[in-house]
Amino acid sequence: MNHELSIQNSLTRQKEKFVPLKEGFIGMYVCGPTVYSDVHLGNCRTFVSFDVMYRFLLHLGYKVRYVRNITDVGHLVDDADTGDDKIGERAKLEQLEPMEVVQKYSNGFHEMMDIFNTRKPSIEPRATGHIMEQIEMVETILANGLAYEKNGSVYFDTIKFASTHDEYGKLSGRVIDELLVETRDDLKNQDEKNHPSDFAIWMRADESHLMKWESPWSIGFPGWHLECSAMSTKYLGEQFDIHGGGNDLKFPHHENEIAQNIGACNCSPAKYWIHTNMLLMNGRKMSKSDNNSITPDQLFSGDSEHITKAYSPMVVKFFMLQSHYGSTLDLTDAALLAGEKGYKKIMEANRYLQGLAGGGSGNAELETKIQELIDQAVADMHDDFNTPKALSRLFELVPIINSHKDGKDGFDTISAEAISAMQETFKVYLFDIFGLQDEFETEGNAIADKFSGLMELIIDIRKDARTEKNWGTSDKIRDKLTELDIQLKDGKEGTHWTLN
Ligand code: AMP
Ligand code: ZN
Repeated sequence: MNHELSIQNSLTRQKEKFVPLKEGFIGMYVCGPTVYSDVHLGNCRTFVSFDVMYRFLLHLGYKVRYVRNITDVGHLVDDADTGDDKIGERAKLEQLEPMEVVQKYSNGFHEMMDIFNTRKPSIEPRATGHIMEQIEMVETILANGLAYEKNGSVYFDTIKFASTHDEYGKLSGRVIDELLVETRDDLKNQDEKNHPSDFAIWMRADESHLMKWESPWSIGFPGWHLECSAMSTKYLGEQFDIHGGGNDLKFPHHENEIAQNIGACNCSPAKYWIHTNMLLMNGRKMSKSDNNSITPDQLFSGDSEHITKAYSPMVVKFFMLQSHYGSTLDLTDAALLAGEKGYKKIMEANRYLQGLAGGGSGNAELETKIQELIDQAVADMHDDFNTPKALSRLFELVPIINSHKDGKDGFDTISAEAISAMQETFKVYLFDIFGLQDEFETEGNAIADKFSGLMELIIDIRKDARTEKNWGTSDKIRDKLTELDIQLKDGKEGTHWTLN
């Protein structure tokens, strides 16, 4: 079967065949977290979704440069051009250096990404490490006549841009008149702007501002949208293949990123824009003020009124994969319970499947069905990374595997080729592409580690007893272990134990 990858492109609102700009290579930029607070589950859903895409593109054989930034300056409390910097505000609140805040929450974010078993990006640039590049971009946009300076701040001229380029508003589907209405309330600083929809690309810092740099216009800091334009250009070039983020970033962040890139180089940055949809809880937006939120740690410990028990990270990840990245995902206790059941069922089937060696005389009908399901799973992932559909094909294979296990008539005749095709599909999809882990195995490993440690301790105690000629204790240890089918062998290099 010849499969072609297609992607739902938010820029054109069409599902399009994916053709990389340079054959065999893919440049992908995903907006990373603003590291001023603990990463929440919604963030995790977005980054897990892009991780699966990254893994699938690698699986297809592409050489992928995956850039995911860390926002550590410029993202203001109101997500626009007013208010304190989110990091700066947190630094004052926690009485920490801004970079201490950045480090603390970057560490937390990385730990959570490890817990969810996501791959690290190829480059993880920080906005504060790219101030020069951002200043240069502001200079270029100014030189191109698409920005203006007022009192040490520089604003992007959206009216001029919209009148000369029809791209403004294309991604978010908004027009300038709507933007005027939407931004009318945002009055602070507006006297400096020619038009309320203009946005800051450089901001003059006031006295209380903690993070600020010298620039040709003022001691200040870059606008939030600018960092992604500058860093994607630096690491992926003026034009690259994929740009991603949660769909709450479409406007103003991504719309303004496109405007800046076009303003600087007269070219639209990314060919395909991918937006993930939001995580909800009990049908409503997750919100702390509404008492409708849960942290990843609460989920893992079960310590929340919203859930009846603890759920492991892989169960939560599995639950996420059971919906398409482009649909909203509603987190409920019932859905997590169902996810846990599904996760255990598929992992159990996989364990049995991977232990199979050889095969039977063949069963044409069953084997055709097996091959069809495998092909469909491959096609599903090519169809805009459809993880729920691909997973459902694997689930359709589970009864076949279980019937083989139960020795049901006909199922034990499945050929070695068909078994190894299933083994390969389960291995590649569950672990390489979805990035799941079999917690039964990892838990088993942890217990085995603890067991080894305990045996070392017992052997040590027995050695001490023998040195002290305390034969009662040393015999008691040996006899009790023999009862438990654990043999001790004394040799030149010490004592070893074996399980009978
Ligand atoms: P932030 O740290 O707020 O800039 O967000 C980091 C990423 O998480 C962005 O791509 C957001 O769009 C995404 N995100 C934020 N909230 C949610 C949510 N409830 N569900 C899914 N993604 C989200
Ligand atoms: Zn961004």
